[in-house]
Amino acid sequence: MNKYVAITGASSGIGYEAAKRFAQRGKNLIIIARNTDKLEELKKEITMIDSSLEVVVKPADLSKKENVYSLYESLKSLDIETWINNAGFGDYRCVHNLDLVKMENMLSLNIEAVAILSTLYTCDYRDTDNTQLINISSVGGYTIVPTAVMYCSTKFFVSAFTEGLSHELIETGAKMRVKVLAPAATKTNFGNVANNITDYDYDKSFGTYHTCDQTVDFLMQLYDSSLPVGLVDRETLTFSLCDYQFNYAGNSKHNQSLN
Ligand code: NAP
Repeated sequence: MNKYVAITGASSGIGYEAAKRFAQRGKNLIIIARNTDKLEELKKEITMIDSSLEVVVKPADLSKKENVYSLYESLKSLDIETWINNAGFGDYRCVHNLDLVKMENMLSLNIEAVAILSTLYTCDYRDTDNTQLINISSVGGYTIVPTAVMYCSTKFFVSAFTEGLSHELIETGAKMRVKVLAPAATKTNFGNVANNITDYDYDKSFGTYHTCDQTVDFLMQLYDSSLPVGLVDRETLTFSLCDYQFNYAGNSKHNQSLN
């Protein structure tokens, strides 16, 4: 039976590049996002990389809870060896200026969809050898960035949830591994979406940033590693594979007794 790598948010930026990189490694792909044309374009590119690969195109708006469940259900017959929750967006505004509809969508996509898909994937694959779940957080999931408080808070959820799940699976003897990638500024469509514009200039706004290729290099290093966290230093832009960043009360005498 064929094995697949599933990537959400594969129609653009980091997800698009990541799909091509997994294709170069001979992986069949499930590519998920709203923009069907872009997904079909990606499928063509992947077929040019390796025409023997299977590419399953799954258009879905993951900010709607019912779509998240039906997407996962539609993939039940496939053997998914890696699941990457990458779809997400930000908003560079102070909290009092946030558009509440955009904010709700951000909470649904960045938090709810990641939580649901991670949980469904964990239920099905926790005891399967060589499986992994990688959630894309952000440096903003470890540091609070001005004018991005709501976005950072969604990414703190991603980082804390993913680190916690990783601990839990190791402690309960599961075979699946769980990892979190925390990239810094990367030149993608993210800047446009976060600022509600179409001509975001990374050179003007950040000066230093990573290309998609560089960020996907970090993702692939994390994928190949046994460490749980891939973290970019926001000040130096250096990448390191590291251990958990959050305090974990694993050995505390004050945890609820299981007996
Ligand atoms: P991007 O180029 O804007 O890509 C975002 C992807 O998410 C697109 O494929 C988009 O596809 C998908 N998406 C957005 N809304 C969706 C929805 N409702 N349902 C399904 N898919 C949806 O941005 P990116 O930088 O590659 O972002 C990828 C991840 O990296 C995000 O989680 C982001 O928070 C994180 N990140 C980015 C940066 C950065 O500076 N770029 C830094 C740190 C972390 P459709 O529009 O076709 O749905």
